[in-house]
Amino acid sequence: MRELNLILTGPPGAGKGTQAQRLTKRAGVPQVSTGDMLREAVASGSELGRRVKGILEAGDLVSDEIVIELVKERLARPDAQSGFVLDGFPRTGEQARALDELLAAAGREPVRVVCLEVPEEELIRRIMSRAEGRSDDNEETVRNRLQIYQRDTRPMLEHYGEAVVRLPGTCTMDEIEASIRTALGIS
Ligand code: ADP
Repeated sequence: MRELNLILTGPPGAGKGTQAQRLTKRAGVPQVSTGDMLREAVASGSELGRRVKGILEAGDLVSDEIVIELVKERLARPDAQSGFVLDGFPRTGEQARALDELLAAAGREPVRVVCLEVPEEELIRRIMSRAEGRSDDNEETVRNRLQIYQRDTRPMLEHYGEAVVRLPGTCTMDEIEASIRTALGIS
């Protein structure tokens, strides 16, 4: 079977996490969320967690080196061999290049990229009303995360160029899921 090696990207609040969960359930591949992995590290009080806590709280990016290592280890595990849905990674051109290289080095298929697009005012509204109450969901941090998205994550998308499938992230969750599945040919 072909691998489902997917990057699900888009600005903070675009709904990547929700759609990643839905797709992974259906396709039987793991969701790999660097945001979740980093928040777990903070919650566990590990050395990594102590190093990244302040960075997450400010909404800044954790270093490429740290997140690349996390993803490299995760994608090498047995459950990720038939595919994965990456949510929150890559976020920079450097991370994208590292991902391409590690897949190629392991003889695996290249990634496919889906980007959910949502206007900025709608993103701020969504994040501020999010139920989980994440400590980085305050207005100042949200604006910082949106700025970082424009500055660092847009170049990541440029790395994949025409291969990026851009879909509107403003309709219902079911409609968005259906459009992603159609784009990827997942029944
Ligand atoms: P969101 O997309 O809603 O902002 P995430 O859960 O993807 O949230 O990420 C939360 C935080 O974790 C980011 O603001 C950043 O500090 C850190 N982070 C997550 N993924 C990465 C990554 N690939 N590179 C650098 N930092 C990351």
